[in-house]
Amino acid sequence: MKLALIGFGQAGGKVVDEFLAYDASIDGGFVETAIAVNSATTDLHGLEHVPQQNRVLIGQARVKGHGVGADNELGATVTEEDIDEIQGAIDRVPVHEIDAFLIVAGMGGGTGSGGAPVLAKHLKRIYTEPVYGLGILPGTDEGGIYTLNAARSFQTFVHEVDNLLVFDNDVWRSAGESVEDGYDRINREIVERFGLLFAAGEVDEDDDVAESVVDSSEIINTLEGGVSTIGYARETVDSSGGLLSSLRDEEGFDEGEATNRMTSLVRKATLGRLTLPCDVSSADRGLVVATGPAEHLNRKGVERGRQWLEDETGSMEIRGGDYPLSDRNEVGAIVLLSGVTDVPRVDQLQQVAIEAQETAETVQANSQDEFASLMDTGGELDALF
Ligand code: GDP
Repeated sequence: MKLALIGFGQAGGKVVDEFLAYDASIDGGFVETAIAVNSATTDLHGLEHVPQQNRVLIGQARVKGHGVGADNELGATVTEEDIDEIQGAIDRVPVHEIDAFLIVAGMGGGTGSGGAPVLAKHLKRIYTEPVYGLGILPGTDEGGIYTLNAARSFQTFVHEVDNLLVFDNDVWRSAGESVEDGYDRINREIVERFGLLFAAGEVDEDDDVAESVVDSSEIINTLEGGVSTIGYARETVDSSGGLLSSLRDEEGFDEGEATNRMTSLVRKATLGRLTLPCDVSSADRGLVVATGPAEHLNRKGVERGRQWLEDETGSMEIRGGDYPLSDRNEVGAIVLLSGVTDVPRVDQLQQVAIEAQETAETVQANSQDEFASLMDTGGELDALF
C-alpha cells in the first residue's frame, strides 16, 4: 500500500529515513512521500534520504531550532502553533495516490512524543484516508521522564490514530552495544518488519506470479482500531531449485516442504519476539504475509499458518496472503496482530509513569515550600520593589 510517511522528532525522522532506504532496496514502492518534522535543526540536517524540501522545522519562534528538550507538552504546543508549516509539506503529497498516512515517533522524548498526536488529530480532521501511528517505546533504563512522556503520549496518540503500531526499544536492546549502534540495528529491524508489511499491499497484480497476493484493503481492514504488534521469522531456502527429490514436481516444487516451512515460520513469528510483546490470544484480528521467491510460496502454506493463528488467537478475523520477492534466498512470515489488549509492558509503563508523576509533584511541592522558607524573614526585610 502507498503511504505518506511523516517522521516526527529525532527517532521518527531517522526511522523514516531508514524506511526510504529499505523501500528502495526491495523495490517496494510503498513510500509515496516522506516528510520529517522536528524542532531541532541538527536532527533535520542529519537525515540522509528525506528530500530537503520535505524537512519541516517547527517551534522556531520559541526554541530557535534547539529542540524542546524532553518537554512533550512544549512539543505539542509548538506543533499546534506551527501546524500550517507541516500542512505546507503535506499539501505537496498527492493524497489521491496514497492509501494511508503513517506518523512515526519516539514516545519518550519531546517533539515526537508531544507533536505526533497533535498532527494525527489534524490529519484525521482534514483527510478521509486512515491515519496510523508507529510509536516507539523507550527502554526501561532511560529514566522516569522518558517513561512518563511515553505513557502520556501513548494515552493520547492511541485515541487520535486509526491504529497504533508499536515497537518497544526495551525488548530489542542488546548488551554491550553503544546507543548509536544499537539504534542503527534496531531501526533496520523496525523498517524490515513494517516495511515488508506495507510493501505487501503494493504488488502490481499484472506481475503477480504468486497464488494470492495481499491487497492493501486487507491491511487496512486488519488495522481497524486499537494497538498492533508484528512478528517476523525467516529461513534460508535453496534458490537454485535444490537437490532432486522424488517429492518435487516437474518444476522442482515440493508442496509438502513449502507448506510445513510456512506453518512453522508463522508459529515462530507469532511466538517469537514481537515488536510489542503481548498475549497473542488477546488479538482481535490478524494478518499472515508469506514473503520470498514465488516458487517457494504456496497457498496451502499460508492457509495452514492462517488456520493455526485462528486457533491461537481465537479470532475469526485472520487474513492471509503472499508478498513475492524475487532474487532472494529467504522465505519469511510476517504476522500482524491487531487490537491486542493484554500487553504487560503498557501496564508497567503506565504504573511507572503514575509513580514518576506523583514523585515529580511531591518534589515540586517540597521545593516550593523549601524556597518559601529560604526567603522567609518573618516580614522584617523589605524587597526593593
Ligand atoms: P524528540 O526528538 O524530542 O522527539 O525525541 P527523540 O526522538 O530523540 O527521543 C525519543 C525516544 O526515542 C528516546 O527516548 C528513545 O527511546 C527513542 N529513540 C531515539 N532515537 C532513536 C532511534 O534512532 N531509534 C529508535 N528505535 N529509538 C530511538
